[in-house]
Amino acid sequence: MIPTVKLLINGEFAESRTRHWQDVYNPATQEILARVPMCGPDEVAQAVSAAKAAFPMWRATPIAERARVFLRLQALIREQIDLLANTLTREQGKTLLDAKGDVFRGLEVVEHACSVGSLQLGEFAENVAGGVDTYTIRQPLGVCAGITPFNFPAMIPLWMFPMACVTGNTFVLKPSEQDPLTPMILAELAQQAGLPRGVLNVVHGGVEAVNALCDHPDIKAISFVGSVTAGTHVYRRASEHGKRVQAMLGAKNHAVFLPDANKEQALNALVGAAFGAAGQRCMAASVAVLVGKARDWIPEIVSRAQALKVDAGHKAGADLGPLINRQALERVEKLVGQGIEQGAKLELDGRYPKVPGYEQGNFIGPTIFSGVTASMHIYQQEIFGPVLCIVEVDTLDEAIAFVNANPYGNGTALFTQSGAAARRFQHDIDVGQVGINVPIPVPVPFFSFTGSRGSKLGDLGPYGKEVVRFYTQTKTVTSRWFDDQVTAGPVNTTITLH
Ligand code: NAD
Repeated sequence: MIPTVKLLINGEFAESRTRHWQDVYNPATQEILARVPMCGPDEVAQAVSAAKAAFPMWRATPIAERARVFLRLQALIREQIDLLANTLTREQGKTLLDAKGDVFRGLEVVEHACSVGSLQLGEFAENVAGGVDTYTIRQPLGVCAGITPFNFPAMIPLWMFPMACVTGNTFVLKPSEQDPLTPMILAELAQQAGLPRGVLNVVHGGVEAVNALCDHPDIKAISFVGSVTAGTHVYRRASEHGKRVQAMLGAKNHAVFLPDANKEQALNALVGAAFGAAGQRCMAASVAVLVGKARDWIPEIVSRAQALKVDAGHKAGADLGPLINRQALERVEKLVGQGIEQGAKLELDGRYPKVPGYEQGNFIGPTIFSGVTASMHIYQQEIFGPVLCIVEVDTLDEAIAFVNANPYGNGTALFTQSGAAARRFQHDIDVGQVGINVPIPVPVPFFSFTGSRGSKLGDLGPYGKEVVRFYTQTKTVTSRWFDDQVTAGPVNTTITLH
């Protein structure tokens, strides 16, 4: 009997009543792990109504009590990290070590959520006019929702609901329908940690559930992470309904190499960042820009990539697991074919690898093209597979212009030993996350994830200080207190406060 994925509504893990279900697969074997319900507007409305009912109680709960729930949650996540990572590898495919990293990066956000007492502080200015003080209060918005992608089924749900809930909101999460089992363990742990009924609710599904969230009048804010197509749709649709929306979108990330870089360190970093998680990271380094004499490094990039092991994620020594599904594999294989047709040089062909015991898995090994130009499909599309495009330029200025001409601006990195070059790069590059000799510069939770140009819609990013602003409404209070002895002067019809 194949298990079904439950909904979480008002503290109860309940069976969906929908007639539409989808299978959740192990991408290394095609084994069906579970069936996930594709919820419609009625079940979304139930979840929203539970969240709405819980809001007055949760909003009134003292900050320290809210923070304590997340202190317990972080401890439970640590205790259950093996269960979480194993489940994540089974349904998503990434290696066990990388799955632990996925959980750990989310756990860091939970830890940060525990310092909400200082994060949610308002400001106070004394005596802004005679005897008048002004202060701000950051109040929760109400019901917020989160829509997450398949590639980080632990980290990205944890970017969202801990910060939303610790600031006093209630939440409806709609995880990716492709790997909902890991987020459901997180939801169970949140219940065990003492999150009251209705504060966190989970629905499942695809476009229909997402549209219902965008349209629901009681949802105040939506955090979205996923592809440009879906995210642009969510941003427009939810904004039309007057909601706050942050949408973190797709990417094409360039790693730029100057010839003075520490070559060993730089090339290892590139190969890890290009092919780790089989390239299914929004921060994957999918384009290497080799400047000047760094062109000569192509054979060494190829030999490092060739040494990586393609295998099922739970196997010891695996460097890359399978892609999430069959369509994703076919799409990547097609793009590799187009790269060849359009004249890029295939330096390493990772298509159709032999993975003994996992012949049905969605595997493709590290694939490298050199001679890539801006007009090729392999450069224009986010491939989201283990395919590295190599571009060659003569100067740092040319490299910066090339990166800035790409429509995406999620992540980038420069490898160099020159402080002056690094400073110019960080100043002139139009990309949200910049690494200097750091290949995947995902900011820790004291900062916020961001993005530039086509990689982000909305002004505030997930987690960190920015998300506290996203999930709260600032109220300013201007107050004056009168001693009993003070006599009222004449009526003042001007707007000044004296
Ligand atoms: P996706 O857009 O297919 O799915 C994301 C979510 O949107 C899922 O919950 C899905 O059910 C829903 N969805 C899918 N199609 C929809 C549609 N037409 N209308 C409304 N909702 C829809 O993305 P994915 O394939 O799960 O994730 C990979 C993408 O996410 C990549 O483009 C990657 O770069 C991006 N990503 C971005 C970041 C970031 O922070 N910028 C982080 C992780 C992933």
